[in-house]
Amino acid sequence: MNKKVIIFSAPSGSGKSTVVNHLLTKFDNLEFSISATSRAPRGHEQNGREYYFLSEEEFRRRVAANEFVEYEEVYADSFYGTLKSEMERIWSNGNIILFDVDVKGGINLKKLLGDQALSVFIKAPSIRELRRRLELRGTDSPEAIEARVVKARSEVRYASKFDVVLINDDLATCLREAEECVAEFITRPKKKVALFFGTFNPMHTGHLEILRYLKEHTEADEVRVVVSPQNPMKQKNYSKSARLKNVKAAIARSGLDVKVSDVEYNLQEPLYTINTLRYLREKEPTCHHIMVIGADNLTILSRWYRYQELIDEFEIWVYPRKGVDAPALCEEHNSRSAIKGIRLLEGRLHNISSTEIRNAELTGKDMSAWKA
Ligand code: ADP
Ligand code: 5GP
Repeated sequence: MNKKVIIFSAPSGSGKSTVVNHLLTKFDNLEFSISATSRAPRGHEQNGREYYFLSEEEFRRRVAANEFVEYEEVYADSFYGTLKSEMERIWSNGNIILFDVDVKGGINLKKLLGDQALSVFIKAPSIRELRRRLELRGTDSPEAIEARVVKARSEVRYASKFDVVLINDDLATCLREAEECVAEFITRPKKKVALFFGTFNPMHTGHLEILRYLKEHTEADEVRVVVSPQNPMKQKNYSKSARLKNVKAAIARSGLDVKVSDVEYNLQEPLYTINTLRYLREKEPTCHHIMVIGADNLTILSRWYRYQELIDEFEIWVYPRKGVDAPALCEEHNSRSAIKGIRLLEGRLHNISSTEIRNAELTGKDMSAWKA
C-alpha cells in the first residue's frame, strides 16, 4: 500500500481551512485526519467529525500511553494531537491522509514521514491582511485575534521548512495551485531503487562496472549496494565490519553516485533476501525496490527462502555471468512468476569474481589490479 500523507499548516487566518475543505471536495481519495483535542466543542462541532473531544485528563493519559504520533499545546491549556490509530484507520481505508495541524506539528510530521509526506505552508499576503480576514470572519474576540496575530508573526518564520509555500492572495489562484501540487504528489511515481546485494569479499572492478551500468543505462532513480554481513548459504569466516568499511571506501574512490546500505547488519539472522526486501518495502513505502543479482544465482534461485513469493513480489534485474545461459534461465523463472519481473540487463560479461580473487591470492598472486 502506498501510504501517503499531505500536511497543511498555516498561521490562523491564512486560509488553511478554506483550502483543506476545497481539496476534500476535489479528491475522492483524500481523507481528513480527525485530531484529538482537549478544548471544548464549538458551535455545531461533533465528536468524531471535526475532532475527537477528550478531557484534559484523558488526553494526558493517552500521551503517557504513547498513543499520539505528535501533539502540541497549540493554545494555552488546549492540547491538539494526531492519534496513531487515526492514521491507521485512514490508510486501512486505502486513502491518503490530509492533515490540518499547527506549524510545529506540521514540521514534526514531515520530519517523521519524509518522502511519504507533502508539507504545505499557507501564507496570507501580509500580517495586516491576515488580521483583516480574522476580523471579517467574526469568530474570534479582539483579544483572541491579537493573540493569533502575535503567534502568526513568529510562525511565518518557519515557512521555509515546508516542501511548498502557497501565498493565499487571490483565493481562486491559491486553490488552483493547491490542487496542482496535491495532484502531482498523489500521482508521483515511486522512486525506483536498484539494490545490489552481495557479501563483496572483496569488492572488485566488475562490481563497479555493474554499478556504473545501473546508473547510466537503467531507469533506476537510486542505486544502493547492500552489504550482507552473512550469506545464509555461505560459511561465516570473514570480518563483516571490515567488509562494510572496504565497500564504503571503494565506492568513495570510484566517484559513483551510489549509496552503501548496512540495513542487513541490523536485521535478525538468518538473513534471507526476501525478509530484507519486505522490510525495506514497509519502511520506504514511496520506493519501488528492485533486486539486482548475477546470472549465476539463477541456477540456485529456486532454492532461496520463499522463492515463489520472492519472484511474485519483487522485480529482479540480472546481469550476465560467464558460463550461464542467462536468457534461458530468466525465461524459465519468469514462466513461474505472476509478475514476470525478471529482466536480463544488457551489460557486458565481467570476467572476474570475488572467489577467483580470493583463490588467486591464496596462491600468492597479486590481484590488486582487480580490486575496487
Ligand atoms: P485558517 O483556517 O487558516 O484559520 P480560514 O480558512 O478560516 O483560515 O480563512 C480565514 C478567513 O479568511 C475566512 O473567513 C475565509 O473565508 C477568508 N479567506 C480565505 N482566503 C481568502 C482570500 N484569498 N481572500 C480573502 N479572504 C479569504
Ligand atoms: P481550532 O481550535 O481553531 O480548531 O484549531 C486550532 C489549531 O490547532 C489549528 O491551527 C489546527 O491546525 C491545530 N491543530 C488541529 N489538530 C492538530 C493536531 O493534531 N496537531 C497539531 N499539532 N495541531 C493541530
